[in-house]
Amino acid sequence: MQYDLEKIKAQFPVLNRKIWDKPLIYLDSAASMQKPQKVLDAINNNYSFSYSNVHRGLHKLSEEATSNYEGARLKISKFINCSEKEIVFTSGATAAINLVAYSWGLKNISAGDEIIITIAEHHANIVPWQLIAQQKGAKIIAAQVNPEEDFDAEIIKKLVTDKTKIIAFPHVSNVLGTVFPVKELCKIAKECGAISVVDGCQGIIHGTVDVKKLGCDFYCFSGHKLYGPTGIGVLYGKYEILEEMPPFLGGGDMIDIVKINQSTYADPPLRFEAGTPPIVEAIALGEAIDWVVETDIDRIGKHEKNVISYGMSILTSIQGVNIFGTAPNKTGVISFTMDCAHSHDIATIIDREGVAVRAGHHCAQPLMDAFNLVSTTRASVGAYSSNQDFDKLGEALTKVKKIFGV
Ligand code: PMP
Repeated sequence: MQYDLEKIKAQFPVLNRKIWDKPLIYLDSAASMQKPQKVLDAINNNYSFSYSNVHRGLHKLSEEATSNYEGARLKISKFINCSEKEIVFTSGATAAINLVAYSWGLKNISAGDEIIITIAEHHANIVPWQLIAQQKGAKIIAAQVNPEEDFDAEIIKKLVTDKTKIIAFPHVSNVLGTVFPVKELCKIAKECGAISVVDGCQGIIHGTVDVKKLGCDFYCFSGHKLYGPTGIGVLYGKYEILEEMPPFLGGGDMIDIVKINQSTYADPPLRFEAGTPPIVEAIALGEAIDWVVETDIDRIGKHEKNVISYGMSILTSIQGVNIFGTAPNKTGVISFTMDCAHSHDIATIIDREGVAVRAGHHCAQPLMDAFNLVSTTRASVGAYSSNQDFDKLGEALTKVKKIFGV
């Protein structure tokens, strides 16, 4: 069956917008995906007609909200092939990684232990580990990444020692688009007795994720990058690991019995969901997942990869454009610099042509440092992106060159 791009685009109201009187060309999906009508309707309908707090209410509306909220958890568990007891709702990927760092890390990391990451991490998969390492006297070891090659799992294997406790890495780099060999890296972690933590933010949006097949201990992602709302994220954790973890945040909903001086706690996942959760956001993420399942996540991923290859051909044909991240199997994003202009100038100028891209360090300063870059411009795609978007980007970059006199 053909990928019906026009039908998909028609479901995203924002794509009808004009920016500076030009049709919007949205090439910033890695920062945040736009939302289909189905998700927007779910947010509106749930706040309008089915809204109440969850779990403790005995009235109809609360029962309905609870059933919808827990229903979303079930949908997500089916989507990534695990038990719903292994899905913890968080406010996003950042909160999910902090949860693992503070709960698992503080309990299990000791002085001299080693945490392996890569130089291509988003800051969300660096700083939480630093905070724990600094408290415990542990060490962060960073694996090198060659921006021109697919990542070889052997690089991590060589860094493993008997002190390795955590191996944390991205599923897909948000700057390079490099796809990491998740299954092999999780196997390496398992063999050395470490836990694997996969930052799945840029991976889950491009294809099927089966956490059981991948063998990961933790896998996390943010709802807003998967066509859902902001304020909601998911931490998958193997149940036997979650079960041994102490709470991270304390408060309502995460307890069993509370006395003045001590408390007992709920079983996972509620142990890690203190306070009123992002109820409607979780339900709307469930709708977003229905949408990607109906549209077929693997077909979306294939389409995006085709668009990225086309984009690479357009950008490499423009003299003075240098692409950062050329691994053969890359997906999702194209980062680049231009000889004639700073990335902030590029992004500002092409915005006037209706083209939305991101410019900066992309929360990946160690990666930028490793290659003596201050910033790049990044074009990134979603289900609704097209080759024509890159034609427009190419035209807009030619205007940038003209403005800078080249
Ligand atoms: N990891 C990666 C690879 C990302 O791209 C992002 C978002 N830019 C994050 C983590 C953090 O996600 P959030 O800000 O939604 O918590």
